[in-house]
Amino acid sequence: MARRELVEDAAGTAAGIAFVTCGLQGGAGGAEAQPLRREVVVSGKRVRTVDTHAHCAVPEAMALMGLKVTGTPNLPDVLLMSNAADRLRAMDEQGIDVEALSINPYWYKADRDVAEKLVTIQNEKLAEACAANPERFVAFASVALQFPDLAAEQLEQGVKKYGLRGAAIGGSVNGEELSDAKYHPFWAKAEALGVLVFIHPQGAGIVSEAPGRFKGNGVLDNIIGNPLETTIALSHLIFEGTLDQFPGLKILAAHAGGYLPSYAGRSDQGCLTFPARCTRTLKKKPTEYIRQLYYDNIIFSPEGMRHLVAETGVGQVVMGTDFPYPWTKTSVDLILATPGLSDADRVAMLGGTAAKLLGIKS
Ligand SMILES: [Zn+2]
Repeated sequence: MARRELVEDAAGTAAGIAFVTCGLQGGAGGAEAQPLRREVVVSGKRVRTVDTHAHCAVPEAMALMGLKVTGTPNLPDVLLMSNAADRLRAMDEQGIDVEALSINPYWYKADRDVAEKLVTIQNEKLAEACAANPERFVAFASVALQFPDLAAEQLEQGVKKYGLRGAAIGGSVNGEELSDAKYHPFWAKAEALGVLVFIHPQGAGIVSEAPGRFKGNGVLDNIIGNPLETTIALSHLIFEGTLDQFPGLKILAAHAGGYLPSYAGRSDQGCLTFPARCTRTLKKKPTEYIRQLYYDNIIFSPEGMRHLVAETGVGQVVMGTDFPYPWTKTSVDLILATPGLSDADRVAMLGGTAAKLLGIKS
């Protein structure tokens, strides 16, 4: 009921949208109740929903860096794919049919041998997790981006040998921008393979470069620092001409692209206002590049979604949850509640666009 009210309040209408929750049938002989699985239906049709932003951890790989899985209580368990049952239960409750798993890079300072081994273990384990539940999981490959040639090989191997659907990378690499020419071999490979690259901020980015500014109450390192890292990363890819050089790239930005889409207009004005500071001629207006990138919908409000779609395009927004971090459990509802969308738009955002980008077959 609460879900229905959310849609009606925010969108003004619930036409064509319905929720079906099924799976609980009183079994004969006192059988235990099956967990509920929420099935999302739009225009009377079941929609396969895809979460493009879902974290997991591979302890065997982390051990190579002397790290252990940590987090808030209960979180470590849920991060492990050896414990897929809890994850599947949460997905079922939230109406998530498929998760695209990714691992935030923590290995960018590792030397080449360790990075090679670590990524191999991790991609093998990701592939195993997907194979154990092929209807529910796909995954982004890990790559050792500090060694761009190796990263390109690992991406190719990840896609061709392990069946992974793209790569997950940080918003910067040891203080260097993703637009730096040294990373061109990686971008060239991603473009050639036609796979999605998911950019997710990490603590080693802007937050570690200006740590004092993020101190104090309010988790500012995360709520401001993470979206800022993404904003900077995407801006360099635009303004340094990376997206001109590799026009076929498919890039998915975490957390709705940080602040970039929310203040897109300013990106077009900088070089008009200070032309002497712009030394590179781009093929398009900066905001046009914003409309070719992809964004998850971790933006929390229907109005935020409406603006994200207005600035980026209806085909550029996909669903994300940040699972298992409890930022939101209502990513599905947020899409259903976003004003101004057609049912076809909602179907695309809930899973259709992501399925195409990730090669998820129907
Ligand atoms: Zn995340």
